[in-house]
Amino acid sequence: MAKTPQCQSCGIPMNKPEEFGTEKDGTRSEKYCLKCYEMGQWTNPDATFDEFYEISLKGFQESDMSKIGKFFLNKMYTKKFLKKLERWR
Ligand SMILES: [Zn+2]
Repeated sequence: MAKTPQCQSCGIPMNKPEEFGTEKDGTRSEKYCLKCYEMGQWTNPDATFDEFYEISLKGFQESDMSKIGKFFLNKMYTKKFLKKLERWR
């Protein structure tokens, strides 16, 4: 079974094709989600690591994720977790 790819910027799992980001030529990015990366560019290029963390956490909390999903997310979505992703190494 193939592992669900995880956005290497915000850490969100990407299950559906429309959740993947896009490269400059419109092809699918295998590394980043559409919320982070669109047409070959970061959607928030000026955000610092801390700002980005706040933005993504807020985004998850305002998403249509289940209450249980949000509960676990709040526990696992730490700055330490985010630092492990490729964009922030
Ligand atoms: Zn992302």
